Amino acid sequence: MKVRAQTSMVFHLDKCIGCHTCSIACKNIWTDRPGCDYMWWNNVETKPGTGYPTLWEDQEKYRGGWELRGERVRLRLHGRAKGLANIFYNPFLPSLDEYYEPWSYRYDDLTNAPPGKDQPVARPVSMITGGETKIEAGPNWDDDLGGSGIYAAGDVNLAALTEGERQQLFSLERLVFFHLPRICNHCLNPGCAAACPTGAIYKRGEDGIVLVSQEKCRAWRMCVSGCPYKKVYYNWGTGKSEKCILCYPRQETGQAPACFHSCVGRIRYLGILLYDADRIREMAARPDHELVEAQLRLILDPSNREVLAKAREDGVHEAILEAARRSPVYRFVKEWRLALPLHPGFRTLPMLFYVPPLLPVVATVERDKYDLDGDPFGDPATGRLPIRYFAALLAAGNEEPVKAAYRKLLAVRLHRRSETVGDVAPEVLERALATAGSCMGEAEDIYRLTTLAGFRERHVVPPFMREMAIEAAADPQKRKGETGTGFSRPPKRGW
Ligand code: SF4
Ligand code: SF4
Repeated sequence: MKVRAQTSMVFHLDKCIGCHTCSIACKNIWTDRPGCDYMWWNNVETKPGTGYPTLWEDQEKYRGGWELRGERVRLRLHGRAKGLANIFYNPFLPSLDEYYEPWSYRYDDLTNAPPGKDQPVARPVSMITGGETKIEAGPNWDDDLGGSGIYAAGDVNLAALTEGERQQLFSLERLVFFHLPRICNHCLNPGCAAACPTGAIYKRGEDGIVLVSQEKCRAWRMCVSGCPYKKVYYNWGTGKSEKCILCYPRQETGQAPACFHSCVGRIRYLGILLYDADRIREMAARPDHELVEAQLRLILDPSNREVLAKAREDGVHEAILEAARRSPVYRFVKEWRLALPLHPGFRTLPMLFYVPPLLPVVATVERDKYDLDGDPFGDPATGRLPIRYFAALLAAGNEEPVKAAYRKLLAVRLHRRSETVGDVAPEVLERALATAGSCMGEAEDIYRLTTLAGFRERHVVPPFMREMAIEAAADPQKRKGETGTGFSRPPKRGW
């Protein structure tokens, strides 16, 4: 066993209101530079939908992540030899159209318009060409059309449904959508790092944040393809790749990342998870239906004496262990098993977990109230979005972990309803708790952390002591350029 610490995240999807405040907070801090115009390190998608860049989940198209060959995982993109042969030609990159052509407006047309009879209009201009443009896509383009047959029908996860279910999904009275905020998952087995021919992408030892060295990057852009979540972006201005840095400069001063800090729905939780680095390869190679369980097995109990002793031996600082014990992520992911990884089938072992949204599953078509005594899992056709959809999204097709999470969420909801409205028969509540393998105490704890927890409880940021972490292995002055964004000197292209 080799114990490492990883800064990990939980997003509670029932609480996301799709306001995009998180995206704007990130954009204003990190990607408002030339060449980054089209980048959204944090974006919020509407599901069912095709997302940003469009169809990013379709690995037949983009060849991101890993695949199981025999008993080992291999990059889906290519092996080392083929990678070198294809280094000047990579056909699996998303084009600008698949992101969108960034635009602004000619505001001068408004402010400097002469007096006249017509209302002046600010025309959209392309931020690539500078000329007038016709806006045809955007990073949240399907927002207003969420659930509609136009965009949602292309959702890759709908392949898990039958033809009949797909048709029902788009009938007017069943239309449903939910929001899916996405950032880099800071994976344990990152496809971006494995695909990079120059070794420019690395995972920080003390917290597992995945970064791109701006000094070493040579613009091969294999990382863009290697990441199945399409969370590495190429900066056309600097000729370097960039990605979410989990606001490590903020974390190093004890602050939560900007998207977490600004989240209006308070859906975001941040904390340390301890994991066994020796078993990553083994767990990434489990069959699809075991992947969620395998990832949970990698995560270690921060209160276990043996784990703590080994962590200390492996150099994990006491302050990080203390943070791991208070981690809200550990509670959601491992203790309560409510939060699941996005597309574990890509086998990158993502460390951002999602609590699935309850409403699209339990809301029934005929009734305008929830059926408190019914079984929302009995007939998948009664839910507005079948469980199979969420299984494809969050459990590599395995319905069991998704159902278990939903059973618990439903029990918590019944528990709170019985407390506040008082119309739930005790035997109904007891049955729901027993079916979920839960109890009143746990339901109350889940409710508390979901709704009442304050800022410091939701974001447990440990003191990282970065200087010490660097000095232990290298000269800090030499590492100055490896920060993921910006330069202390003008960038030099690699050819
Ligand atoms: S989600 Fe982040 S860490 Fe994982 S493969 Fe993509 S860029 Fe790399
Ligand atoms: S700020 Fe929070 S609630 Fe708003 S879209 Fe982002 S994740 Fe959702």
